[in-house]
Amino acid sequence: MSGVPQSNPQDAAQKTFYLETFGCQMNVHDSEKVVGTLVQEGYRQVETVEQADLVLYNTCSIRDKAEQKVFNRLSDYKKYKKQGKTFGVLGCVAQQEGEKIFERAPHVSLVCGSASYRKLPEMLRQLEEAELRNISLEPSAIRSIDSHPSKTAKGGAPSFRETRDSGLAARESLVRITGLDDRETDACFETEFTARTNPHRGYITIIEGCDKFCAYCVVPYTRGKERSRTSASVLAEARQMADLGYTEIQLLGQNVNSYKDSEGNSSLRKTFAELLAAVGEVPGIRRVRFMTSHPRDFGRDIVEAIDAVPTLCDHVHLPVQSGSTRMLDAMQRLYTRDQYLERIAWMKAAKREISITTDVIVGFPGETEADFAETLDLLDEVGYDAVFAFKYSPRPNTPSLKLEDAIPDEEKSRRLDVLMARQREIQSVRYKKYIGTRCEVMVEGKNEARAQYISRTTHNKTLNFTAPPTANPKAGTYAPILVTGSFPNSLLGELVV
Ligand code: SAM
Ligand code: SF4
Repeated sequence: MSGVPQSNPQDAAQKTFYLETFGCQMNVHDSEKVVGTLVQEGYRQVETVEQADLVLYNTCSIRDKAEQKVFNRLSDYKKYKKQGKTFGVLGCVAQQEGEKIFERAPHVSLVCGSASYRKLPEMLRQLEEAELRNISLEPSAIRSIDSHPSKTAKGGAPSFRETRDSGLAARESLVRITGLDDRETDACFETEFTARTNPHRGYITIIEGCDKFCAYCVVPYTRGKERSRTSASVLAEARQMADLGYTEIQLLGQNVNSYKDSEGNSSLRKTFAELLAAVGEVPGIRRVRFMTSHPRDFGRDIVEAIDAVPTLCDHVHLPVQSGSTRMLDAMQRLYTRDQYLERIAWMKAAKREISITTDVIVGFPGETEADFAETLDLLDEVGYDAVFAFKYSPRPNTPSLKLEDAIPDEEKSRRLDVLMARQREIQSVRYKKYIGTRCEVMVEGKNEARAQYISRTTHNKTLNFTAPPTANPKAGTYAPILVTGSFPNSLLGELVV
């Protein structure tokens, strides 16, 4: 944990919470901030639902499967409501489904979208007060507390209203708290209380929301409009992390390249590439990564920053989604295949070899065999070090929902399998060429069963290595390694002593 007041585990009267996280790194880091906020509010984190007074799910709705998981989990845990536990749904499914969650899972009391997290302390207090009051309420008199901010006080304190309701919900839960109305906010969820789970490597969110509106994507509807933190605030957090002993920082955002410094003094404003370089120059920081880049906003200055600042890692995740310009147009990605390849060419011309990874969607409405063949061809042309591929999943509110999802699931699965098989071949060849080279890794832990240390290269590759018993490299340290073997997804090596 960093900057999080530690609670006394012996205090039996202390309120406890359990938090489960689904989804991407943004969600993982949001959860770290939510945990910090709860601890600051006097809660203690526990490891099982059974031990918790408050059970929270931080959810993902990027694909249908991710969303379904949340409802399955909520339904599994319904039985605990009888034990007096309180349930809350946070994140993208919360924002997307809103108050409908109370109908589908009536044992839930709190529904909070990610754009409302900064109001969590107030919402938690309202939740506690309402639950105390409800102990003396008739079951048919349900108290509904809405934490929507008043429309006039943009970003200000939430205003609360109480209403009476009846029916099914009253039998299941007496309290309804929602934080759903903040998607137009300019404010970010900034907190000095972040419960980072890894003591060596940590995330910093620099930009929230997204204004890109790709045809298939729910993010602009669930995370709200794009808003950036000031570079001063990001740098202060980076320095604080360095002081606490962190050596690796990953800057996060749905589209970090469209970062716009909101620093009051315009002469101090930094572009994304300048911010990246400045974080890389914080004393004590040895590695800086960033995720995710959008090709439309990916400038040459980012490659120049990587060339100039040795602490910036030699890895760029640049999602392409499709190798066909026709499909990119249908997906509203705002770039062509050639423009994408131009950015790849900038990276390939860099002084250090930059490892490139990507995301691909197969089976988007209208994708023909010829379009798909162009994607396969792009994999060969770029030579990615990893590809995260997904079957198109129609999502609520998105423009592509109007298009017929005509490609059968079996065909989407077939394309996915073909694509991953091709990529495995490409990776096998690419990973092999590291054999015999030396590199520096950050040690992440030890696999006792295999007597191997687990580590990561600057290229973001997993490298498992052996070391003499006397060496015993610790997690969080950096070590020189000779690469001795390779697999499609990892490297093998030995410590250079
Ligand atoms: N902001 C990032 C970008 O522009 O690439 C990615 C955000 S999204 C959390 C991660 C990936 O999920 C996307 O790159 C895309 O490949 C995939 N994805 C998003 N919506 C999808 C959908 N409706 N169906 C299938 N995959 C989807
Ligand atoms: Fe979604 Fe596109 Fe925004 Fe990425 S850039 S979060 S894919 S809308």
